Amino acid sequence: MSFPSLGLIDPIVQTLATLGYATPTAVQQQAIPAILSGKDVMAAAQTGTGKTAGFALPVLQRLFKRDKKVGSNAVRALVLVPTRELAEQVHESFRAYGAGLELRTMVAYGGVSINPQMMNLRKGVDVLVATPGRLLDLHRQNAVKFNEVISLVLDEADRMLDLGFSRELDQVFAALPKKRQTLLFSATFSDQIRAMANRLLREPVRIEA
Ligand code: AMP
Repeated sequence: MSFPSLGLIDPIVQTLATLGYATPTAVQQQAIPAILSGKDVMAAAQTGTGKTAGFALPVLQRLFKRDKKVGSNAVRALVLVPTRELAEQVHESFRAYGAGLELRTMVAYGGVSINPQMMNLRKGVDVLVATPGRLLDLHRQNAVKFNEVISLVLDEADRMLDLGFSRELDQVFAALPKKRQTLLFSATFSDQIRAMANRLLREPVRIEA
């Protein structure tokens, strides 16, 4: 199995070679073709399985292929994560994997000044990695618009619920376009996660890594 055989295009494959990624991991082999085809995904994946590239690579490729200019304050792919540390880490992955694609990426979390984040959102971003509370603050202040969102990623969904983000998540979901791709990644699948998946995902491809 190789990255090109999963459907990834040259500029991404070349970046992966530079990073020293020779073969896709199990979760990548399953997630990449499904996400590229536009399907929803529900994946049971622990840290260390390569899950971040499993969603970041195909999400980036879909944005690149559409080649649509992003509107003021708009975001085209939204990635929700439980903590600022994970936000930084996931954003760094999107930045690295998207190196050859000229897409705009940004990270936003609480505990730091909101003004620079509001400024950076003005031109619109292709990928926004955010924690749920700060994302809602930005949305309430009209600093971010969700009407162009084509993909929503929930990373470490179980930890987001453990940290009490359930209400914030519901408020975000309610504000997103109905027609979109939703990708749910979680280490564990409690009843609460399953209920959320049932509400959010449409005929998801199920992945166990
Ligand atoms: P993750 O599970 O997303 O936290 O990724 C774990 C680590 O594996 C990260 O340091 C990635 O850079 C690395 N990684 C992800 N996919 C591959 C791959 N196909 N080949 C080699 N390393 C990888």
